[in-house]
Amino acid sequence: MSPSGNSGTTTDTKLDGPHTIYGFERWGHDLLTVLENGDVGLRNPLKPDTPPISLPSIIRDLDQRGIHAPMLLRVSSFLENEIRGINQSFAAAMEDAGYRGKYRGVFPIKVNQQAQVIRQIVDFGRPYSFGLEAGSKPELVIALAQSLENDALVVCNGVKDLKFIKLAILSRKLGFNTAIVLESPKELELVIKAYEELGVEPLLGVRVKLFNRIGGDWAESSGDRSTFGMNTDQLMSVIDRLREVGLLHCLKFQHSHLGSQIPDVNDVRRAVVEACRYFVELTKEGAPLTHLDLGGGLGVDYTGEKRASKSSINYSVMEYCENVVEAVRYAMDGAGLEHPTLTTESGRAIVATSSMLIFNVLEATLYDRVTNSAAESTDHHYVNDMAVIETYLEPRRLQECINDASFYRNELRNLFMRNAVDLRQMARAERIYLYLMSRIKLMAQEADNSPEIDEQLDALADIYHCNFSLFQSLPDVWAIDQIHPIAPLQKLNEEPNRRAILSDITCDSDGKIDEFILADGLSPALPVHDLTEGEPYYLGVFFVGAYQETLGDLHNLFGDTNVATIELREDGHFDLLQEVEGDTIAQVLSYVEFDPKDCVDDFRKLLDRATSQNRLKTSERKLLIATYREAINSYTYFE
Ligand SMILES: *Cc1c(COP(=O)(O)O)cnc(C)c1O
Repeated sequence: MSPSGNSGTTTDTKLDGPHTIYGFERWGHDLLTVLENGDVGLRNPLKPDTPPISLPSIIRDLDQRGIHAPMLLRVSSFLENEIRGINQSFAAAMEDAGYRGKYRGVFPIKVNQQAQVIRQIVDFGRPYSFGLEAGSKPELVIALAQSLENDALVVCNGVKDLKFIKLAILSRKLGFNTAIVLESPKELELVIKAYEELGVEPLLGVRVKLFNRIGGDWAESSGDRSTFGMNTDQLMSVIDRLREVGLLHCLKFQHSHLGSQIPDVNDVRRAVVEACRYFVELTKEGAPLTHLDLGGGLGVDYTGEKRASKSSINYSVMEYCENVVEAVRYAMDGAGLEHPTLTTESGRAIVATSSMLIFNVLEATLYDRVTNSAAESTDHHYVNDMAVIETYLEPRRLQECINDASFYRNELRNLFMRNAVDLRQMARAERIYLYLMSRIKLMAQEADNSPEIDEQLDALADIYHCNFSLFQSLPDVWAIDQIHPIAPLQKLNEEPNRRAILSDITCDSDGKIDEFILADGLSPALPVHDLTEGEPYYLGVFFVGAYQETLGDLHNLFGDTNVATIELREDGHFDLLQEVEGDTIAQVLSYVEFDPKDCVDDFRKLLDRATSQNRLKTSERKLLIATYREAINSYTYFE
């Protein structure tokens, strides 16, 4: 498909070649592509006709400006595209279905609270009167510092104290449409108290606990036993109490949230039908409901498999909107009610695609060896036996050769333990073994193997040591085995000749990634290229915009990475909108209550003592203090 007139330029995209193994076409969401020169390219989804931009060239450019890997790259054009997508899809679905209400979405702040992201969401959402959802007092404080459109919503969920409730009520005086969604009858008493004190009427909602359960990782947040929302009994007592105090007319809003990353669109539909039943019944009870809020849950197809599974979904944004709108219209028409304003609180689906984590590979531990070693006549005969394997190595006998090699290696390890072979023999055996493995891996690449052989060879995958912290930057990969697409950012026109797992820079054996999505499904190893001395090899982890930034922790005191926000321009270049330097060591020390200044002082005292005891020359003292100071002001990652 690449236009023949330009073939050869770096901006052409390439449809076939070695890169197809990664599956960019499958999970790339029309945002990522591979260029003729083997670089990953970023497409501009807002202007599909503009040429894609080479991601490695963006990284080089940022590097020259002092923004180094590891870094989080935010692409504002991707974010704008998602906000446009959900709003326009709801509008189109409503138009198609003859729906006579509006869509007024809100972004749940908890999914990405970073100031730059929130500001952009507010800006990009303005044409659609897009609002914000706050699940806590601090998040409400953020929401109320934004200038939202007049008819945008601020939805308050979560456990609320009196201060939270008062702030929410008072914000209405400023023109905010702040809805207080009651999580429990007890919360209502606080609202009544605040109303009596302030004399301002609240805009109220109720959070309904639905019976329907969803599949996937967040099944627990749905159904009877979910920790949020009110059951039928509690709902009725809230209605009765509101009527009693003369505030039932304030109850405009019904909310339910099923959990995140709903894999199956039919789960959504069933839940919407159930939510509508409540809406109709609560209306019958005299609540003048005008807004139906269906919470979050719109998923992201991380693996591109388009099926109802853990990291994939079996629907598009448009299908989601159509299902919701249609189900609500049927229910309301059936009950003879007006079509309510529809609200969703999609967080993940709005921000996930807009950020990527980029890091360099520091070094590789290879589980093979190009050159062979010979056994020596004095070696144990098992060393020799291992060397002989090469003479009968052929595609049909791969399994046998793997078996033999591991047998001799294990035997030699036992002999070593019993002092029967020495370290030098062991080293020779190791070299022969790794040489055999490289021959076997090569042969296996060409042959059509049984899955068992592939599995055994993946157990011998190389380890690429990478400049990032899983715990800080990809907490969901660590905690819940979330799959994100991962791929090299360059050399994609060359055959990846190795398979590797990725290990991070922390000293924790959990700090590794060994599950990858490729074109043909999940794989325990990632195809990678050989490292070239002096040439950075970058990897990208895609769609990390949701939940990862604040859930991450300071394991081994690796701090926030550098962050750059870029906008894709129509001429195929980009603008750097913002950069935020990652944490310095001084900063992470202060997070754990060390005063960096005290650290310098204490270090200096040790130096003074050593100098006065003549253990240190004054020139050495100067060097030591300078080196310590330099370290404390530097990036926590490998520089
Ligand atoms: C977390 C949360 C959301 C966001 O869910 P996503 O699956 O990210 O869209 C929405 N509403 C509530 C109440 C939440 O707790």
